[in-house]
Amino acid sequence: MNFSNTDISLARKLDAQDELASFRDEFLIDDPNLIYLDGNSLGRLPKCSINFMRNAIEEEWGKRLIQVWNDGWVNTPTELGAKIAKLVGAHPDEILVTEATSINLFKLAIAALQARPNRTEILSDEFNFPSDLYILQGIIDLLGKKHHLNLISSTDSISIDAEDIEKNINEKTTLVSLTHVAFKSAFMYDMKKVTEQAHKSGALMLWDLSHSVGAVPIDLNACKVDLAIGCTYKYLNGGPGAPAFLYVRRDLQKELSQPMWGWFAAEKPFDFDLNFTPASDIFRYRVGTPPMLSMKAIDPALDIILDAGMTRLRKKSIAQTEYLIFLADKWLNPLGFRLGTPRKAALRGSHVSLRHLESFRITRALIESHPPAIRVIPDFRAPDNIRFGITPLYTTFTEIHQALARIKIIVEDKIYEEYTNEQLAIT
Ligand SMILES: *Cc1c(COP(=O)(O)O)cnc(C)c1O
Repeated sequence: MNFSNTDISLARKLDAQDELASFRDEFLIDDPNLIYLDGNSLGRLPKCSINFMRNAIEEEWGKRLIQVWNDGWVNTPTELGAKIAKLVGAHPDEILVTEATSINLFKLAIAALQARPNRTEILSDEFNFPSDLYILQGIIDLLGKKHHLNLISSTDSISIDAEDIEKNINEKTTLVSLTHVAFKSAFMYDMKKVTEQAHKSGALMLWDLSHSVGAVPIDLNACKVDLAIGCTYKYLNGGPGAPAFLYVRRDLQKELSQPMWGWFAAEKPFDFDLNFTPASDIFRYRVGTPPMLSMKAIDPALDIILDAGMTRLRKKSIAQTEYLIFLADKWLNPLGFRLGTPRKAALRGSHVSLRHLESFRITRALIESHPPAIRVIPDFRAPDNIRFGITPLYTTFTEIHQALARIKIIVEDKIYEEYTNEQLAIT
């Protein structure tokens, strides 16, 4: 994509031509002085979620009490699953909203390892989200240390070579567990190719979609993916700590067995039988009573994304990440920045990482600036990445321009030197 100049007028023109521009009004944006580029960690609040939740609390819980489950709440995890299925190319009965992403990985990875008892290798990469790696390490410990976790490393700290994956999959590989879009560099795997590589040697393939669902088009069925997990509070705007989702391909649902035999995983929970008989469908991957209030908030948020459509969202996301990279090349590379994200749009998700020796203090200066300076919220990821989440439902080209212009000033005027390297609890 070619941009003719770095003037703000170009950003305004791109906003004026943006067919998704009106979606920004669907979100609560109360501070015109704040540019939010962290929707890849916690999506903004959709305005419609406010009344939706008021109704869920006052009318549904408040007035209907226990009857609310039979009014429809009992179906919420699969109804939301069916909506997410449209975003990720799955059948409606292959996805369930339940627990946290980490817990779903625990359940599905154990299910996979137990389905291939004679194999001992788990393949992942050094880009994977640490929680995913910790869960896999914990599983190895729990199962008696029979398995070995093989982590593919990157040669350029930005991307992973598909050949390195292929070379490391063999007849001992049980499970290939990877994150589709890397949380730090935004590198995106070729899902189809890697899944095929896993299947060629008889391994099961699990994708973590936390940084790709709602950000890039995904087609789990077309790629013949076995298992997947993902977050709803990032690009899906489901709210802080909203429950996650899991996907199990239809033909595997009955074959695999997850390890947490809670009553909601049973065939007939309300028979209160003393012995566990697992459900034969996706319900077998549930555990206990779902956290309904946080789950409800996912619903109106998903409708907005479905309305915008993944094709249009991806098109705008690429245009915006390209624009950010264009401005960074012009303004920031001369100031010591370098790109920490693949240059090729097809290899990149919907965020951009810029690297600088002073990234931490620059991030603090961006977040803690006072008016009249504009405030910008990206996030910092060690050792030296500033991550800019592009969420095309509400990010504007003008905001990208203003944010990068602000970074330029912070570095040129050494404003970051007013801040220390002291770490905060959540960054
Ligand atoms: C955000 C994220 C998670 C978060 O897991 P939780 O259990 O919700 O805390 C897991 N995996 C990836 C790849 C993520 O980006």
